[in-house]
Amino acid sequence: MNQKDIEAFVKKYYRLLAIFCIVVSIATAVMAQTPSGPPMGPGPYRPSALVELVKLDPTIRLDIRYATADNFFGKAVYSEPRAFLQRPAADALLSVHRRLKAQGYGLVVYDAYRPWSVTKLFWDITPPEKRVFVADPAVGSVHNRGCAVDVGLFDLRTGREVEMTGAYDEMTERSFVTYTGGTVEQRARRDLLRKAMEQDGYFFVYPEEWWHYNFKDSREYAIQDIPFSAIGSPSEPKK
Ligand SMILES: [Zn+2]
Repeated sequence: MNQKDIEAFVKKYYRLLAIFCIVVSIATAVMAQTPSGPPMGPGPYRPSALVELVKLDPTIRLDIRYATADNFFGKAVYSEPRAFLQRPAADALLSVHRRLKAQGYGLVVYDAYRPWSVTKLFWDITPPEKRVFVADPAVGSVHNRGCAVDVGLFDLRTGREVEMTGAYDEMTERSFVTYTGGTVEQRARRDLLRKAMEQDGYFFVYPEEWWHYNFKDSREYAIQDIPFSAIGSPSEPKK
């Protein structure tokens, strides 16, 4: 190599290095803005055993708001009004439902397992000051693990859902379990629901939402993004 060749080589090398640096910085910027999918977490996890609540007990009531336009999003985000939980959580929930019968109530389920992509959608459309009411998709929701359930009560005598201190998914302080406003009856029913749900130590309320309960072993299940149509159950094998 003579002097000229060396200079040409160095020039070429620097040009390649510059192109490489530009490509890396563009890729990094794109990746920072593009959602990378559900967080995996440390694991190991129990195998998923999502079961459909009405298959285990058809007397539990469903009012799946995200399968209708009657929700804070204003549009249906589920194609089917169905509710699934991991088997131990489903069993614990149904035992609460059966016990409430003696008090004249049944459980109405607003939401249970929720695919991660729906959590991401909710986060993206919610203004930052209201994000205490939605889960950060970078962490995932307990709903994504099939271990959270949104519930209310219905009156066995009238068949009607009972009023609580605030509406389901309402993004105000009326949703807090410590909210002291509303009527005596509304607070009493909210507290009755909480007592029934927490009695066995399987579920714990989310203090900012009277309807949201987490199952105690939620961390043992992975975050999932499978649609309802892809979920099988022991009594109904996946087709
Ligand atoms: Zn919830």
